[in-house]
Amino acid sequence: MRRKASFPMTALADRPTVPSPASALVCRNCGAEYPLGAQHACFECFGPLEIGYDAAALARVTREQIEAGPHTLWRYAGLLPVGQSPATRVESNTGMTPLIRADRLADELGFTAPIWIKDDSANPTHSFKDRVVSVAITAARELGFERIACASTGNLANSVAAHAARIGMPSIVFIPSDLEPAKIIQTAVYGGTLVGIQGSYDDVNRLCSQLSEEDEFEKTGFVNVNIRPYYAEGSKTLGFEVAEQLGWRLPGQYVAPMASGSMLTKINKAFKELVTAGLVDSATWKVFGAQSAGCSPIATAFDAGVNDVTPVKPTGIAKSLNIGNPADGPYALDAVRASGGAMAAVGDDEIREGIRLLARTTGVFAETAGGVTIAVLRKLVEQGRIDTSVETVVFNTRDGLKTIDAISESGAPTAVIPPTLKGMREAGLL
Ligand SMILES: *Cc1c(COP(=O)(O)O)cnc(C)c1O
Repeated sequence: MRRKASFPMTALADRPTVPSPASALVCRNCGAEYPLGAQHACFECFGPLEIGYDAAALARVTREQIEAGPHTLWRYAGLLPVGQSPATRVESNTGMTPLIRADRLADELGFTAPIWIKDDSANPTHSFKDRVVSVAITAARELGFERIACASTGNLANSVAAHAARIGMPSIVFIPSDLEPAKIIQTAVYGGTLVGIQGSYDDVNRLCSQLSEEDEFEKTGFVNVNIRPYYAEGSKTLGFEVAEQLGWRLPGQYVAPMASGSMLTKINKAFKELVTAGLVDSATWKVFGAQSAGCSPIATAFDAGVNDVTPVKPTGIAKSLNIGNPADGPYALDAVRASGGAMAAVGDDEIREGIRLLARTTGVFAETAGGVTIAVLRKLVEQGRIDTSVETVVFNTRDGLKTIDAISESGAPTAVIPPTLKGMREAGLL
């Protein structure tokens, strides 16, 4: 049965001991404000909502408090909407992933300033999604939901199922039924309900929006639907960590992959909030967005100089970025344009070469999304659209071991020889 009210508004189940710095849900289109809760769209203009903060509350957060916190993303609880109380916090040891100085990559690309790789493959389920899910499930608990759900192309499914398992919360995960077997296994292993949908990711997402309005799902928090404003805030912790790891400084440029475009915009939001909070000196930075040519609706709009993102039917090997109708596309365009940055898209061969370039210069094995980002960095350098004399952070969002098939043809040994010195000589290795 359908409920009349579109959005469940549930009371805080467990009020945190320290007040949250979040003050309201704010419409990103018209600026209308709503009380904090499980609502994701504006009643006035249907625009997406995001979390607004009390600037004075942000300004009370100190570097010392953060540095004394846990070695996980919850050290930034003072800058997040939920998780102020360890009682509701879902602690999966996510975050504080390595920031790796990539001097050999910088040399190869002709950079005179440092390039840093923020390596989020080090998270518990080996992708950046653990950040958004940690915050979303914590929000679900605080908002009184009893079950957690999501629409996913794979990574989010893994992370939601794993986090639900960690705290013993029931989960129901919706995926396109034609996902690769490895991805299905990586989610099914955690238990919980896993539903294969005969359709694309965009079909799965639409079904989840419909389900979130059904009575039977009243106590179910959909991480990327009705609690999306909270979920999206988890991405900010990437920006917070980069600043702290650079010694409380912001880099002059960053390059991030885009699926829905959310992560890129939230890293930008994080940098702005760090300035508001007085945790870093006022600074300027340029934002660069990366997509694959098989699914580049945002980069295409950027090149055309328009604000409307035309949906596409995704193809290509960068499956974790294949969102054909990206919800945050217009906001990603705004963030990049306002900063004076750029966007670019790269084809599958360039993506494979990007994976190999990062691996052989840094020892980091990235998934296709990381390949996209490195290949776009290289392309921007070739096109003279990124400044090689400015310190740059590049986001690697997932572990290459998860999409090994994408580069399997380059995985052959240098030589295969008998176990003898003669064999070594004949292969030219001795
Ligand atoms: C989800 C995801 C991203 C970022 O996606 P957005 O929808 O743009 O926030 C980047 N890389 C990987 C591997 C992801 O799974």
